[in-house]
Amino acid sequence: MTKQDFLAKAYRRTVSNALGDAAKRIGDPDLINLSIGDPDFITPQEIIDSAFKCATEGHTNYTKPNGDPELIDAIAVFLREEYRSDVKPSEIMVTVGACHAMYVALCAILDEGDEVLVPDPYFTPYKDQVTMARGVFVSVPTDISTGFQLDFETLENLVTSKTKAILVNSPNNPTGAVYGRDVLEKLGEFALKHDLIVLSDEVYEALSYGQKHVSVLEIPTLRDRSIVFGSFSKSYAMTGWRIGYAVAPDYVISTMVQINESICFSAPSVSQRAALSALHKRNIVQPKLVHAFEERMNYGYQRIRSIQGLDVIAPKGGIYLFADIRKSNLGSALFAQRLADEKKVLVLPGNVFGAYGEGYIRIAVTVGLDRLAIAFDRIEEFIQKEAEM
Ligand code: PMP
Repeated sequence: MTKQDFLAKAYRRTVSNALGDAAKRIGDPDLINLSIGDPDFITPQEIIDSAFKCATEGHTNYTKPNGDPELIDAIAVFLREEYRSDVKPSEIMVTVGACHAMYVALCAILDEGDEVLVPDPYFTPYKDQVTMARGVFVSVPTDISTGFQLDFETLENLVTSKTKAILVNSPNNPTGAVYGRDVLEKLGEFALKHDLIVLSDEVYEALSYGQKHVSVLEIPTLRDRSIVFGSFSKSYAMTGWRIGYAVAPDYVISTMVQINESICFSAPSVSQRAALSALHKRNIVQPKLVHAFEERMNYGYQRIRSIQGLDVIAPKGGIYLFADIRKSNLGSALFAQRLADEKKVLVLPGNVFGAYGEGYIRIAVTVGLDRLAIAFDRIEEFIQKEAEM
């Protein structure tokens, strides 16, 4: 019996993991890390102070399994103010980040073999989450030529009698695409026609540039067939507090709550108080954060467009630029590896985001403009040297 035999068969293979490989390089002081989407900002001080006060006042126990009632009410108010959507407290569950919400939601809706359509490139955990929840992951190609938008003809061709849901993400990680109201309305018609559930990952909702984010909650056809995921991670620089939430029909929420009672029961109480404070102070703390990301995204976009041989779509949201490196004739993995080795700029190869991410690199704008400028100088030098060879 080897040590490997103690593991479940599904995990016995040794797989190369680009995220793990990237993490090993962190610590080199000359390295500019644009790989993992964890912003350099720390949580606004007023949120930290408020959470600290709540902890000393006794908010240190389990909360109700669906979440702190005050936070649930505040999320409902937020959704009403932001999207004019009337969401009842029974339609909200607070979770340990949006990833947790998504997994529990998938467990609640999928039977063995149910298919989930996912636009590709996609946020890496989606695939394992669908598989772990007994589902079958179905990649839906998207392409830079259409701005990585949904193509309904492609979707029609991929629907089968087993399709149960479609999982969308706008603003998108990794592509930076944003779905407008027209696309979401078409998605509503598509979901209705095929009787699908729409899982909508909206964790970058606050980070929308130039136009206001449109939530699936605003689309009447989707209102009773969607599960929306929100998060405090990126919108308030609170990744480590681990608070997110799901909005869904009440019978879905009560099933998710029931499943989660056997997983982690409730989200952390102090973090939930921090999230409550974040919502109360939203108009004070958020604009600065959004502005900083918008400035970085626009800067990165201009720099990429000015480098011959690279291309990228105009950033409409999120914190990632998905640069097309196909003209370099290096694959994504080799490009990212050599950029890290030779120029000390760490980005993620596009193929970790699915087959349709091959030929791209993902640049997370998680450092200030001064460091970004150095990173893009290095990228430019790298490309120029390659072109000369
Ligand atoms: N969805 C997307 C698209 C993300 O990029 C991330 C974080 N990188 C998450 C979900 C996870 O959010 P949370 O920290 O709330 O689990």
